[in-house]
Amino acid sequence: MTRRQLVNLLSALGLAPAAAPAPAEAASKPSRADAVTRTDAEWRQRLTPAQFSVLRQEGTEPPGTSALNHEKRRGVYRCAGCDLPLFSSEAKFDSGTGWPSFFRPLDEALGTKTDYKLLLPRTEYHCARCGGHQGHVFDDGPRPTGKRYCNNGVALRFDPEAA
Ligand SMILES: [Zn+2]
Repeated sequence: MTRRQLVNLLSALGLAPAAAPAPAEAASKPSRADAVTRTDAEWRQRLTPAQFSVLRQEGTEPPGTSALNHEKRRGVYRCAGCDLPLFSSEAKFDSGTGWPSFFRPLDEALGTKTDYKLLLPRTEYHCARCGGHQGHVFDDGPRPTGKRYCNNGVALRFDPEAA
């Protein structure tokens, strides 16, 4: 049986996902020198189930559920997986989407790839150090970049600046 026949059979049985994920893009593997790599079992121990779902399985938190939506203090937003600083509060804006949004990441903080989970391709981004999924970036953000980094709040840890 070919792979396609198998997928068709599973689809007929209601068992297959609408689109099979591309194996090469199923996981984001960081390549930098300070890369943080752990097994899924290790990540499950360190993360909450909600964090694991987003960071390691590219899940999406329900909109409007993150306390970080309303965070207005100065500080740094770090990866909840490995603590790498990803965004400054200076790049945060209220997008009205229900997810914490930024118009620019910190330098060298993120990696990106294209995902096809919805019909239209989207640009996924992840922590450049541990590969943890953070969100998707769109071209409808405010000036000066025009970018909107739509981030899962559960994948971030806010570090307020000392007053
Ligand atoms: Zn990370």
